[in-house]
Amino acid sequence: MQKPPEQTNSIKANQLKESMIREVSRMAVKHGVINLGQGVPDFPCPVELKEAVSQALDNDINQYAVTWGDRNLREALSKKYSTALGFYLDPETEITVTCGATEALIATLIAVVNPGDEVIIFEPFYENYLAQILLADAIVRSIPLQLPSAEIDHDKLQSAFTEKTKAIIVNTPNNPTGKVFSVTELQFIADLCQRYGVLLITDEIYEHILFDNVQHVYPASLSDMRDSTITISGLSKTYSLTGWRIGWVMANKKITDSIRKVHDFLTIGAPAPLQKAAVTAVSFGQNYYQEVTRVYAERRNHLLETLDYIAMPYFKPQGAYYVFAEISQYGYKSDLEFLRFMLTKVGVAVIPGSTFLCPDNPKANSYARFCFSRKMETLKAAREKLWQNLKIQA
Ligand code: PLP
Repeated sequence: MQKPPEQTNSIKANQLKESMIREVSRMAVKHGVINLGQGVPDFPCPVELKEAVSQALDNDINQYAVTWGDRNLREALSKKYSTALGFYLDPETEITVTCGATEALIATLIAVVNPGDEVIIFEPFYENYLAQILLADAIVRSIPLQLPSAEIDHDKLQSAFTEKTKAIIVNTPNNPTGKVFSVTELQFIADLCQRYGVLLITDEIYEHILFDNVQHVYPASLSDMRDSTITISGLSKTYSLTGWRIGWVMANKKITDSIRKVHDFLTIGAPAPLQKAAVTAVSFGQNYYQEVTRVYAERRNHLLETLDYIAMPYFKPQGAYYVFAEISQYGYKSDLEFLRFMLTKVGVAVIPGSTFLCPDNPKANSYARFCFSRKMETLKAAREKLWQNLKIQA
């Protein structure tokens, strides 16, 4: 006799919820609306990268790459990050290429945590962290950033560090708030990591998307943090290549050895022709990154102006490509109801804020995330719809 799914499926899988971010993309297609939901650019990647991947295919790069990554790519990453982090990263022993930052993070968690270990994250958080910590059999300790300022509550953070804490994940620039952690904040976290022997796992996927001259600080570059930091990033956001699924994780040799074993059995390796082409991306000069910042600043400012006109409060992003805005003024009972209204009446899809918050957060239903990694014409079309439908009459 066929068993019901809750008995056929594992306890772990039954605890996972479908990703709301990916679901909103499907809903946007179904309703035929403008999608300001998922963090996926709707414009092409740099032309040099398309040429580089064609070249790789012409050269018959079709078989598995070295498990921990194409040698040239690891060398290019070593060059880029040895400068950024301020110490030499050995491409042979300290850098692993993965299937996106997503795989880098799950491989890292499986490689360093034991069942029952606690992993601290900041709330609002990128939704994947909850699922990934669960998959690694660890326990989430969520520390709220104080909204709307997104400041750290130092006392709460300090009290979350105990002998059970194995790691803390810091996502800077942050999704969904756009907060960029300052050197003082990172130093505070680093000091706690040192004191309690906790690993600092970073998610720096938005490292090059920064505004208003705010500087990104690489946590591994802080003094004495080299051995306790695991640095994660990837191609997806900086080079508009979310579909290529190339990321990387950098850590000392001992941790890297463990991550590489997990990575090997999870995926064998990231796509070989795309790794070849990724060398071109990672080797771009400063001009490229300056242009990324310029183009995204224009898009951010356009969306902020749109939200200002309808008097929707938000945290002004210092980095990444999202705006986390408050929707309480529209009087919907839940952010899912707000989403339904956006899909059916306004014609713009956004991500409900509860995706990034714990269910017991008293303001779990008060936010929505808008993404501005879109062509200007998409943002202009969204503005029309938002201004027509969301302006509250005084
Ligand atoms: N980390 C954060 C904070 C993200 O926002 C995203 C994608 O939205 C990812 C990781 C996924 O990165 P990748 O495409 O490299 O797996």
